[in-house]
Amino acid sequence: MRIRRIDSELLHVPLARPRASALEAASGRLNHIVTLLVEVHTDEQLVGLGFAYALQTSGRALLATLQDDLIPLLIGEDPLDHERLTSKVYWRTQTVGRRGLVQQAYSALDVALWDLKGKASNLPLYKLLGGTRESVEVYGSDTAWLWMSVEEILDASRPYLDQGMKGIKVKVGANPAEDYDKLGRLREALDDIWIAVDANERYDLATALTMGRFFEEEIGVGWFEEPISCEDVAGHVRLAEKLDVPLAAGEMLFGLDEFERYLEQEALAVVQPDVTRLGGITSWLKVAALAERRHLPVSPHLLPEIAVHLACGLPGVTSVEYMPWLYPLFVNPPKIVQGRLAPPAGPGLGLQLDRDRVATFRVKF
Ligand SMILES: [Mg+2]
Repeated sequence: MRIRRIDSELLHVPLARPRASALEAASGRLNHIVTLLVEVHTDEQLVGLGFAYALQTSGRALLATLQDDLIPLLIGEDPLDHERLTSKVYWRTQTVGRRGLVQQAYSALDVALWDLKGKASNLPLYKLLGGTRESVEVYGSDTAWLWMSVEEILDASRPYLDQGMKGIKVKVGANPAEDYDKLGRLREALDDIWIAVDANERYDLATALTMGRFFEEEIGVGWFEEPISCEDVAGHVRLAEKLDVPLAAGEMLFGLDEFERYLEQEALAVVQPDVTRLGGITSWLKVAALAERRHLPVSPHLLPEIAVHLACGLPGVTSVEYMPWLYPLFVNPPKIVQGRLAPPAGPGLGLQLDRDRVATFRVKF
């Protein structure tokens, strides 16, 4: 099989519930998700679907990198050779980006190669990866943003909890006093529901230690995510030594070596690699293997459309973050069935594009 043509486009997918306060969202930057969409056409009538996302750029550079530098490296190649192609792209682009923009753009292509692999073998991706389970635990992640009041969080979360989801993750980190109050009230209202907290790197070490003790002793959180800067491995080690609450992180790590540094120092209890930021599923799987060696659960960052396959495929991937930002792109995104997330039927990712809606999200230059 050979790659004949690759179609690509840049989308701005509007958010049903903004990530930021109304004031911040007014800047126009935080109320949509920048998305690269690719379709890899082969000489055997199979088409691979891939996508990647970005949060803080317009995405023009991602699209240019993809179209000018990456797609030409794949034309004429066998799409089943995902390792060889990852290596080819790595060495051909190394001087402009072993990670970051180049890898993020390439991840859309790598995802499409895995989708194609499933289609070529007529197997859903999760079966191809290992077929560990038919559905997976899922937690709500878009119902408790920093700008939301306790009442707004409860209103937004109830439909998820009523469906039997594992629980919710609550954003913290901007104001410790407010976090203290908010979590106390949420715990009262949600009683024995699983709650995790995510500080998105915004506490300093001393605050993270104080808040971590509060989260573990008074709230009983499932995990404490990104307590401090992702660049401070030593800080994570100190927190892990002093706190019993499981520390989770990984969404901001861009390579196997960065994960290795954390894991060899026992700085994390839950590993959260991001498919897009790692350059695709090929590299993501290597992080999952690293975590498995150390008996650490993996919970993929975002992209439930892909994460559901990773979790149903691999034993160590034990939960999925339900952030349905890209659901509007598809006719059949993964559904919650009795509180668990199940992959759509069909080979590869099993996803079918909603082409009419996709057209409305297209960025025109
Ligand atoms: Mg997070």
